[in-house]
Amino acid sequence: MNVLVTVALERTYTYAVPDGLSLRVGDVVVVPFGPRLMLGVVWEGVPEPIDGKKLKAVERKLDGHLDATMRRFVSWVADYTVTPPGQVLRMVLRVPGALLPEKPVLALRLAGPPPDRLTEARRRVLDVLGHGEARTKAALAEAARVSTSVVDGLVEAGTLRQVELPPEPLVPPPDPDRPHKALTESQEEAAEALSGPAAEGGFEVTLLEGVTGSGKTEVYFEAVAAALKAGRQVLVLVPEISLTGQFLERFEARFGARPAEWHSDATPKARERTWRGVASGEVRAVAGARSALFLPFRELGLIVVDEEHDPAYKQEDGVIYNARDMAVVRGMLSEIPVVLSSATPSVESRANAQKGRYRHITLHERFAMPMPDITAIDMRTEGPERGRWLAPALVKAIAEETGHGRQALLFLNRRGYAPLTLCRKCGYRFECPNCSAWLVEHRFRGTLACHHCGFETGRPDKCPNCAAEHSLVPCGPGVERVAEEAMSLFPDRRVLILSSDVVASLADLRERFAVVERGEADIVIGTQLVAKGHNFPHLSVVGVVDADLGLASADPRAAERTFQLLQQVTGRAGRGLHEGRAFVQTFEPSHPVMAAIVSGDKDGFYERELEARARQGLPPFGRLAALVVSANAREQAVAHAKAMALAVPSGDVRVLGPADAPLAVIRGRHRLRFLVKAPRGLDMAAFIRAWLSASPKPAGNVRVSVDIDPVSF
Ligand code: ADP
Ligand code: ZN
Repeated sequence: MNVLVTVALERTYTYAVPDGLSLRVGDVVVVPFGPRLMLGVVWEGVPEPIDGKKLKAVERKLDGHLDATMRRFVSWVADYTVTPPGQVLRMVLRVPGALLPEKPVLALRLAGPPPDRLTEARRRVLDVLGHGEARTKAALAEAARVSTSVVDGLVEAGTLRQVELPPEPLVPPPDPDRPHKALTESQEEAAEALSGPAAEGGFEVTLLEGVTGSGKTEVYFEAVAAALKAGRQVLVLVPEISLTGQFLERFEARFGARPAEWHSDATPKARERTWRGVASGEVRAVAGARSALFLPFRELGLIVVDEEHDPAYKQEDGVIYNARDMAVVRGMLSEIPVVLSSATPSVESRANAQKGRYRHITLHERFAMPMPDITAIDMRTEGPERGRWLAPALVKAIAEETGHGRQALLFLNRRGYAPLTLCRKCGYRFECPNCSAWLVEHRFRGTLACHHCGFETGRPDKCPNCAAEHSLVPCGPGVERVAEEAMSLFPDRRVLILSSDVVASLADLRERFAVVERGEADIVIGTQLVAKGHNFPHLSVVGVVDADLGLASADPRAAERTFQLLQQVTGRAGRGLHEGRAFVQTFEPSHPVMAAIVSGDKDGFYERELEARARQGLPPFGRLAALVVSANAREQAVAHAKAMALAVPSGDVRVLGPADAPLAVIRGRHRLRFLVKAPRGLDMAAFIRAWLSASPKPAGNVRVSVDIDPVSF
């Protein structure tokens, strides 16, 4: 029997099947692998000839099963991303608990007369337990406010008896037939166009494009309803778990029940139940982060990728993949429709829509409010005094809006207080000992921290280099510093920071979002977390503190990324109860990105961007891949990269590099990078496999990672 084992090796392995065990292709099994037991799946293909060697036998069969589509998906992703299929399989089977038989819940129910010695505590227990009812010992003790030993006593006395309960039911199923919001005419048209395919099945990709607040969510909910009515399961991908809170509520308002959640912050128990429910078909709808794409749905009928342009869909370690692209693949293999939704689609999806590969549905108007008025503030002439970050025009607008009880949002995509700290006397700069990066000051925590490896150290009083006192100065702003300025400008306003590092947990983050939603903060300072998909009904003014921040890099997607971010964040203004306006602080107001943001000329921006990409042979007109060679010592990385450079197969491909990767050292690993540019039709994965097999095998601690279609570099 052929088994694909969850290890990072290319091939499958042959195992003997013990007598009495019946196995089908797709069954999940435990097999001995080297000295250990590992998970695997019975895979297609002819077992290797064994020439007399004694085969190891499958240890046992588990509960799970991967159907043919799921197995093809695993192979497809492995092939495309140049990853061993066993490593992709590991992402699917990451929830071992879900594969074991579910343990019954032990509960107690009334079985005999009350005991002779009926203490007050015992009576309370009998009072809370109705006839025919069964509760777990812990639940019973808690409800009666007694210790569990009181409950034990009642069992000994024969008053209560232990029974096995079936496992708790999962979330109630969503109800697609509940009344929904009356859609506008154009929303209705879009909803119908999506619902047809969602009801009928069949592969098709639709780009649902509509300005922020145009009702894309309301519209794709109708496709969700159609798929549910057709008896199919639904998957909605969201880029960021911080976003799921509001999404779950909206889903519940529409369908009367929450979808199952899937993300890394969920408890193992919750993940187990979701995995199992998805596989059995009991869970009808899932909202999740990118890894939800690897859940073994029994009868998936629709995939929605919300905010499809978002870079968070890219997984950058382990199996390097883009969940948006792999969602399209999964839709193709499952023969079901895929909806990509965004106010600012990726250039690739836009191009696919223009070429007719994707259907394109556009919502042109906001549902309630007009789009916000956007003004560029020229920081060269209209900026604040030195050491301040908010221009007078923006400060005036914040004062006006918050004076009327409305909210202001200040956006700066930089965590912490200051991105760089240096000594005024000797010029010393604080750098991470493990990475080629500056340490970022976090004033609230009183530390200097590296955002790449997590290194953190207390902020010293003296310069560690020249020992000068009071000579350390923070350079540039992060959200904490902007918050400090806002607090000093508006001492009577409630200022709130929304940034991943000032929150303790997901619950805490969701609570902060809820505070903003309820209007209990006046001025919100946020990182890119706030740019994504949230509805803040009280928000009427948005200020982008440093709009040029993302444009400085050499990344070919810098313009696209900045355009998307600025559109998204300015689009938060005026979505709910009040008309909005937005200010963009820039040193380069004539930059095409700023001009497009201010004028709202989205089509013009995409057109220019596509022309530029075509000229440079960049995606979607050509293909890109990045190979990073890393090692503990730079010389090792260089030596291996040089050897690889000599092994590049000939062909219609340009290999650039090796050069230092943009972050040349991360966590003490020295990194060199190749960029591979190829024409559109080329099989990039095949080229890279050929190259890697012609290259020397990485030895020692040298690693080569392959990133097909890199999204940022
Ligand atoms: P998008 O996803 O395009 O940004 P949403 O679906 O979030 O837009 O809609 C923006 C806001 O407008 C939401 O609060 C939503 O409930 C509301 N809305 C959109 N369409 C309607 C409608 N037809 N009836 C009532 N409210 C609507
Ligand atoms: Zn570091």
